[in-house]
Amino acid sequence: MSSAAEEGLPRPEPPSREVILGLGRAYVSTPRIETRPSDESVPLLPRPVTIEDIGKTRAGVWAVLTTIFIAALPDSLAPLVGRLPRDPMRAALLILNDAPVIDGHIDLPILLRMAFANNVSAVDLTKDFVGHVDIPRLRAGKVGGFFWSVYVGCPDPAVEGKDFLTSTWRVRDTLEQIDVAKLTIEKYPDVFRAALGSEDIRDAINNGKIASLLGVEGGHQLGNSIAVLRQYHALGVRYVTLTHICHNAFADSCGFDPGMIPLHHGLSPIGFRLIDEMNRIGMLVDLSHTSDDTARQALTHSKAPVIWSHSSARAVHDHARNVPDDVLALIGTEEGKTDGVVMVNFGPTFIGDPGNVTLYGVADHVEHIAKVAGKKHVGLGSDFDGIGETPVGLEDVSTYPALFAELVKRGWTKYELSGLAGANLLRVFEGAERVSRELQAAGTAPAFDVYDKRTDL
Ligand SMILES: [Zn+2]
Repeated sequence: MSSAAEEGLPRPEPPSREVILGLGRAYVSTPRIETRPSDESVPLLPRPVTIEDIGKTRAGVWAVLTTIFIAALPDSLAPLVGRLPRDPMRAALLILNDAPVIDGHIDLPILLRMAFANNVSAVDLTKDFVGHVDIPRLRAGKVGGFFWSVYVGCPDPAVEGKDFLTSTWRVRDTLEQIDVAKLTIEKYPDVFRAALGSEDIRDAINNGKIASLLGVEGGHQLGNSIAVLRQYHALGVRYVTLTHICHNAFADSCGFDPGMIPLHHGLSPIGFRLIDEMNRIGMLVDLSHTSDDTARQALTHSKAPVIWSHSSARAVHDHARNVPDDVLALIGTEEGKTDGVVMVNFGPTFIGDPGNVTLYGVADHVEHIAKVAGKKHVGLGSDFDGIGETPVGLEDVSTYPALFAELVKRGWTKYELSGLAGANLLRVFEGAERVSRELQAAGTAPAFDVYDKRTDL
């Protein structure tokens, strides 16, 4: 969520019905993809014809003939030999059939609050809906899952005070947002399926459903209480963004405009314990919106892989909400680094200069994060319904294939693009689930730490 969702945005012509059929299969049914999404040995799609397949004795002749055959093959038959169609959009759609998009951050629930007072019976997602998201456009965009952000705004700092003790009604509002998200998911059982873990995501996509997960967008929504974190998890929430645009009892935010003055200089003492508990229960640590110090400390402290649910690259466009290169350099699976995925935000404010933001700019952010952190560490977190403006060419959830087509043109392979679409997130999610299992198996006690400014406990 960056600002109020807006209405009446121009939309491109969605792809035809034929191209929206067959949401992902191999991507979610191939167990090995979870740890090796960019490894070209993973059979996401049929393998290309190889020399070994043809036979060694006549390999030379056949290789030449095969090359000629494949090169001359029309796009409609290209998948039969494992070759992507030459047309980038057709190639993108083919990839997304097997590896649909799992978006890290969509703000539909706050739109339902603002526009419908959370009255789900008044909501019809089966046709053209206000904002960036409805069912026909999700299908056209090859979406296999997304995190429904259960966002509640930051309190007014003048009212809240520096000890963050007054706005416990943020917990009430968060519960209402969890409620509206769940009821909307339940309203369309043929389309959405509530997902609590990586296996649920696979099952949902395998059954042609859109895996629906919940993410809380800010530590201010926790009412200063680690017990509330545990109960959000029990209600199905699977990530908590440590901050929104305000500092809270647990961590410093990067704010929105330049010059945010730090309060804790990163995590507070109870903020470290919050991460311990998130690791223990399997709640993903989301570092979007955090200050650079918070991000560095959380990366170092977390035993589990982390995410940025909706953040872009600061080196491409200088904005506090974007991730700087020195933080990107800390992400990885090598010794001394922490696994993670930075899911690129489409908000024009974060992508480029006003009036000049297109899908090409978003592709530049994707490529920069891939260059610094690696292609296994980038994903998509559009912030649709939470951003007022959108880039030209990425106007709503029907447009993801256009971004993939652009990256096909830039030389990304189908394996790398399957990682970008969602396999990288799945790997990170599974890593966090594994750490949680290990910590619980080791008998790690829940965190009972109490925020030191409270006087009632
Ligand atoms: Zn946000």
